[in-house]
Amino acid sequence: MAIVSSISENISLAALAIESGQLVAFPTETVYGLGANALDGVAVATIFAAKQRPRFNPLIVHVSDLTEASRYALINAAAEKLAEAFWPGPLSLVLPRRPECAISSLVSAGLDSIAFRSPAHGIARHLLAATGLPIAAPSANRAGRISPTSAEDVEAELGDIPAMILNGGPCLLGLESTVVRLAHGTAEVLRLGALPREEIEAALGETLCRPDAATNAAHASPGQLASHYAPEARLRLGAAQAEAGEALLAFGPETPRFAGPTINLSPSGDLKEAAANLFAALRRLDRTGAATIAVMPIPAHGLGEAINDRLSRAAAER
Ligand code: AMP
Ligand code: MG
Repeated sequence: MAIVSSISENISLAALAIESGQLVAFPTETVYGLGANALDGVAVATIFAAKQRPRFNPLIVHVSDLTEASRYALINAAAEKLAEAFWPGPLSLVLPRRPECAISSLVSAGLDSIAFRSPAHGIARHLLAATGLPIAAPSANRAGRISPTSAEDVEAELGDIPAMILNGGPCLLGLESTVVRLAHGTAEVLRLGALPREEIEAALGETLCRPDAATNAAHASPGQLASHYAPEARLRLGAAQAEAGEALLAFGPETPRFAGPTINLSPSGDLKEAAANLFAALRRLDRTGAATIAVMPIPAHGLGEAINDRLSRAAAER
């Protein structure tokens, strides 16, 4: 079974599939997730196998709320503040595991912490409520590739691997969650994402630390590899114009004259719109067969920080 509509009957079937250890792909407001029962180590192992994901890259666990997360992790004041401000929403919180934590240790990739998120999307929430389980769900793509922002993208990435793909149409935000670790007495941003860093800092009343790239790669946030979100084509960033044979990923009202394949992420220069369109645009330009995608500069503020992070990883040496 592949893509199915998200009528409540299908969500009930999806809940049964999760309860029986199968994988279900479902929409969230960020990207589509590939979900499994986080308490079931075999089901979690199936996610790693399906995505060909390195075992050192931990998964985010989706929960209904902070009370559910508190059954598995230690909650501090900063976590309460951030969950109050942003949950449900595109913020993942990395918290210390409770010693008796029932979530599979595979989820944490051997770390003593777990990342939790309470998604805002109605289908994701419905699925969490129907199972009553914590659902481990990384993005529903093969490791290192572009995250899917539609049910069709999931099918193109994973084919028949999920027992079902719940169709919720295109994702509203289109970028993965921002990951903040609150595990060592500090608040650190481990991954930039759909919730701008400035908004988190304003709610917290403090500046978020950024672990340096070297420590990050080694252990802090093992999944944050230099090359990720990669299309087949090479990316040429900061391009003022595109050359013959290239495709153009444009941004804003003033775009260079170009006859080749072109997508403008946001003709009005709106970063939210650009974020929502980014992954689908990369996929579409990739399908033109162009060897290189020329990418116009994107402003560095607000969501632009996360967009530029994804673009630089997509452009990195593989
Ligand atoms: P994905 O599931 O593909 O959205 O990626 C989840 C990302 O969250 C991982 O690549 C890590 O960078 C980060 N993450 C998840 N769990 C932890 C954790 N316990 N400690 C640090 N980073 C985590
Ligand atoms: Mg991912």
